[in-house]
Amino acid sequence: MEKYLVIGDPVGHSRSPGMQNAAFEAAGLGRPYGRRLVHPEELADFFEYARKNLSGVNLTVPHKLQAAALADELTSRAGVCGSVNTLLISEGRIIGDSTDGVGLEEALKYCFQEELTGKKILFCGAGGAARATAVHLAGCGVEEISFINRTAARAEELFALCRKVHPEITGSCAVPDDEKEVRRLLESADYLIQATSVGLKADDPSPLAERFFHPGMKVKIFDTIYHPTALQKIAAENNINWANGMEMLIRQGAESFELWTGIKPDLAAMRRGFELKGAE
Ligand code: NAP
Repeated sequence: MEKYLVIGDPVGHSRSPGMQNAAFEAAGLGRPYGRRLVHPEELADFFEYARKNLSGVNLTVPHKLQAAALADELTSRAGVCGSVNTLLISEGRIIGDSTDGVGLEEALKYCFQEELTGKKILFCGAGGAARATAVHLAGCGVEEISFINRTAARAEELFALCRKVHPEITGSCAVPDDEKEVRRLLESADYLIQATSVGLKADDPSPLAERFFHPGMKVKIFDTIYHPTALQKIAAENNINWANGMEMLIRQGAESFELWTGIKPDLAAMRRGFELKGAE
């Protein structure tokens, strides 16, 4: 019987089963990880099922915020960002954790092979993914965290949260059509983290206009979306160093795996499992 699940709505596209089962198999633990479609109104009932039947769960859109309210206990990092992507279940008790921040931190270090100390981070987006990762990055010794987001109030609220937890952090907020400020932020940033949902559909435009990018920019682009997007194409055409969201998904999953099993997962096996497009 499956003891671990990824749940979401939709969930059919998730690469987590392929990736997690590869890690479990490499550790000699079989293939205990499945997927289940859970609609938001079913989440409370799912928690009762999980409490009695499962050892661990990953949660994807749209459950991360509601899960924070349903868990019996939150780890401090999940409590700070109010987002839960991992459940640890032991003796009927459900602990909610958030591994997205560590996932992004480790993905950045792996993809760009440098430390984050003193770096200027610019998020494009201030939704759930940005919320789950920005406060964590703010605690990684970076100098600045700034946000460009369509809804200004959401960016300002998230920036204020980063400052509340890490008062030493500097930064600012802008909307995507504030030409002068977007240009200024992009020219001074070390990393642009693309964390909007613009790009999930094949014909989506880039969330930041092509005119903002040019060859020779120092900014490195990390697009949290793991399939090709217009922004990734712009980065490649301008010889800007970039990476897609695959490594973040792998690293947040690796952290979940270690929380559940106490074993460091085989990352190479997880990458191969990811490439199998969710095959179980
Ligand atoms: P979300 O909470 O729905 O937030 C969506 C974000 O996109 C908000 O900042 C929103 O701006 C912006 N946005 C949506 N439509 C827009 C539009 N037409 N124009 C401009 N901005 C728009 O979603 P999320 O959970 O944060 O997910 C965001 C992205 O992160 C997704 O692409 C997801 O695939 C990715 N992600 C990747 C990983 C990984 O492991 N690689 C993990 C988690 C998430 P407003 O605030 O103005 O609405």
